Amino acid sequence: MTRDDARLKRMLEEERSRLIEDIDHLATIRYRRISSSNHMAENATAAFDQASNQALLKQLQHRLQRVEHALAKFDQGTYGYCENCGEPIDFARLKALPDARFCLKCQRQRETMGGRPLGPRALETGEI
Ligand SMILES: [Zn+2]
Repeated sequence: MTRDDARLKRMLEEERSRLIEDIDHLATIRYRRISSSNHMAENATAAFDQASNQALLKQLQHRLQRVEHALAKFDQGTYGYCENCGEPIDFARLKALPDARFCLKCQRQRETMGGRPLGPRALETGEI
């Protein structure tokens, strides 16, 4: 492992502890809000907060999964390599996005595919 890889790993580890803290924190808030409010308006606000907290919590958990996935790749010795083509991922990309799973080329390809390409019958089916 090169020194730069070690730095990326540290970044990921720091992000993981931060995420775990945030998730813990959110879980605590949720619990307190619901148990302490007994007024209808407060309940509505609490329900709204709960919904946005829930969305945030999901986001954080998803992010944590990505970070843990990246950290696991360090153990497997596959960190820094594209999961699709196996080529090394550009270091500048890893620095900006330490949990990147694909090289830029494959990432672009995936985004294009995920973007629901319009079929030849798009006009007839009303997609346009
Ligand atoms: Zn690739």
